[in-house]
Amino acid sequence: MTNFLIFGPPGSGKGTQSVKLASEFKLIHLSTGDMLREEVAAQTELGKKVEGIMQRGDLVPDEVVISMIAGRIDSNKDAEGFIFDGFPRTVDQAKALDSTLEDKGTSICKMLVLEVEHDELVKRLLKRAEVSGRPDDKDESIVENRIKVYGEKTEPVINYYKDHNKYQPVNGMGDIEDIFNRLSKVVSDCI
Ligand code: AMP
Repeated sequence: MTNFLIFGPPGSGKGTQSVKLASEFKLIHLSTGDMLREEVAAQTELGKKVEGIMQRGDLVPDEVVISMIAGRIDSNKDAEGFIFDGFPRTVDQAKALDSTLEDKGTSICKMLVLEVEHDELVKRLLKRAEVSGRPDDKDESIVENRIKVYGEKTEPVINYYKDHNKYQPVNGMGDIEDIFNRLSKVVSDCI
């Protein structure tokens, strides 16, 4: 099993690129944002609990996403690998993921971090709002809050993986295919 994290602020292209990488390298794509949006759309107990938090652009509690991810890892025992998108977003989530993977005799190979300039992020998110229907993309102040939350809560996660020699920054500016080629090179070096 070979596993990757894809990281980067909201609007950095994580979703687009991880779907492409999953298909190219036969990885299972796990996005906590997508899973949570499904819960909200289905108005489950969990969905109702997290809806407001997501609308504000804040983080849902660690235990919620940790148990969702552990469940998906368990139910995909024959997977060749996973690409985790939007998870972990806190150091506690990172530690929980490491221990879940360790129990399965595997680990993270690389943390791929998409680097995109701030103005480009805001531009991409407001543009995405026109088609995604995501309420958290529509409002510029919420977009700014999500970028701020990323900086405050998620940057320590980058340091965690730097300390474990797994950090791999990738230029996330420019053409989708060019960015994909940059990411693919790193992924194929692991596989
Ligand atoms: P995303 O699609 O990854 O941008 O996530 C959308 C929203 O879902 C975030 O703004 C958070 O409210 C929530 N969310 C997604 N993943 C996580 C996570 N790993 N930890 C906490 N909250 C999360």
